[in-house]
Amino acid sequence: MIPIHVDGSEAFAASLGRLVARGADDLGAVEQDVRVIVSAVRAEGDDAVFRYVERFERRRPDPLVIRSFDGAAALARLEPDLRAALELAADRIRRYHEHQHEAGFRYEEDGVVLGMRVRPLARVGVYAPGGKARYPSSVLMSAIPARVAGVRDIVLATPAPDDRLLAAAHLAGVTSILDAGGAQAIAALAYGTTSLPRVDKIVGPGNIYVACAKKLVYGDVDIDGIAGPSEIVALADDAADPSVVAADLLSQAEHDEDAWCVLVTTSRALAEAVVAELGPQLAALSRDSIAGASMRTRGCALVVSSLARLAEVASLVAGEHVSYHVADPEALFDRVEGGGAALLGGMTPVAAGDYLAGPSHVLPTGGAARFGSPLGVYDFVVRASIIRYSTPALLRHGPHIANFARAEGLDAHARAVELRMSRHTRLGGRG
Ligand code: NAD
Repeated sequence: MIPIHVDGSEAFAASLGRLVARGADDLGAVEQDVRVIVSAVRAEGDDAVFRYVERFERRRPDPLVIRSFDGAAALARLEPDLRAALELAADRIRRYHEHQHEAGFRYEEDGVVLGMRVRPLARVGVYAPGGKARYPSSVLMSAIPARVAGVRDIVLATPAPDDRLLAAAHLAGVTSILDAGGAQAIAALAYGTTSLPRVDKIVGPGNIYVACAKKLVYGDVDIDGIAGPSEIVALADDAADPSVVAADLLSQAEHDEDAWCVLVTTSRALAEAVVAELGPQLAALSRDSIAGASMRTRGCALVVSSLARLAEVASLVAGEHVSYHVADPEALFDRVEGGGAALLGGMTPVAAGDYLAGPSHVLPTGGAARFGSPLGVYDFVVRASIIRYSTPALLRHGPHIANFARAEGLDAHARAVELRMSRHTRLGGRG
């Protein structure tokens, strides 16, 4: 079902090269269409949003922006088991993110007060996909970090929200809902319409139209990143349980035909045992055709000769989810670079991170874990630097600042400093 390549072979090098070069989906295929949608919404506002929702979703939202919704009633209508899972997840996600609070700082150095003020963004848009499936988990994972940051208005954009979405929105502290999906929803959030003020930042995953629209509006509004297909890199030694490793790989493969599911192991025997497990486990899945397609086209097992090389390959691949099926997961994790989510030890399913553990499941994909971090409270704040000079401090630094400015040909900068210094001197040092 998936090929096994041994380090040193050409096939291994080619496979690793393909993984390292994987990027976000090629958005070029839809860019022209999405540009038209974004421009239309920017120019025409609500009318264009209605038009595209009618075209792509075959319905007319009424109202387009839901300002008050009875999320508590939606929660009460859910199956008790789902309700309990949502409530537990929401609570755990909130508590995890409370650890991410950034307080800012202030200190004085030689008569200069310096600092950084941290404030929440005023308005953010959270996209939750609503095309092929519903993801209440994504609402929790995107909106709760914003709520914890103190964001005042959290707009959930999702087409035709059902009780699961409304319940998650309620638990996450969403303040209004834009009943639309796709590029038109992203453009409405970015530029605002008559019925929806624009937001400062748009976060959350979506399909290729959503991803492309986020890329196009970036700069006019902030975004969290461009989400590509799901990924898992499972790291395993010879003591790993092959059925558990196979189950983890398939748990990400079922997301998307284009998901990347990779095993990197120090044991050829383990690789063979995992591959043998995949077929029977796949056959038992409801989304077997999606998971099968991704395993066949993008799955592989890479065999290396040492834990050091395992760490090196994992760092190069920079997976969204990295699961550690090794004897000492903490020691190996210490040697693997990058962001994303680390799932440590055989008892930690990737699915725990996807739903309930606490950290956000909105993660960098396509190798962006090399430099990107999970969505967090830090994504929903703005920082202002604070600078306040005392007179003696300016008299001391002033000549250096003026010299620096003149060296760059910026006279007005120098004068703005010297004016203050000379005024102080004229006033006999009382200024
Ligand atoms: P979606 O809400 O992202 O997209 C649906 C919208 O696409 C529709 O409302 C419509 O407006 C637009 N659309 C459809 N066809 C179009 C066309 N021809 N032209 C222009 N617009 C069109 O829902 P989806 O399609 O189900 O995609 C969800 C994606 O999100 C999947 O790829 C899934 O894997 C991903 N996802 C990622 C995560 C994560 O955390 N990374 C979580 C959940 C889902």
